Amino acid sequence: MDALSEALDDARRRVVDLQAARAEVVAAAEGANSDDEHDPEGATIAYEREQLAALIAQAAESVAAAEAAIAARADGTYGICRACGRQIGAERLEARPSALTCIDCARQGR
Ligand SMILES: [Zn+2]
Repeated sequence: MDALSEALDDARRRVVDLQAARAEVVAAAEGANSDDEHDPEGATIAYEREQLAALIAQAAESVAAAEAAIAARADGTYGICRACGRQIGAERLEARPSALTCIDCARQGR
């Protein structure tokens, strides 16, 4: 399997794992029946849920990026920065096969 397909697989697995982890936290919270908002346990669970939701969003973004990169490879634009049109460095593509922008644009949040 190539690096891009692996990145996509990894990201998809991460989404599934994180969703399972979040489901566990939610189930545990329901079991604990902590309806007191001043309960420190309740605050921890809320924090964990937020953290997991953020990680799931990140993983979902990785899935979308890998899918976009695979589509770009199919239409021959893979490795070309979407923001400035220059070639993305080989090192960056090696470290992050699903990168759609060059390092300069990524640093500027493009
Ligand atoms: Zn660029």
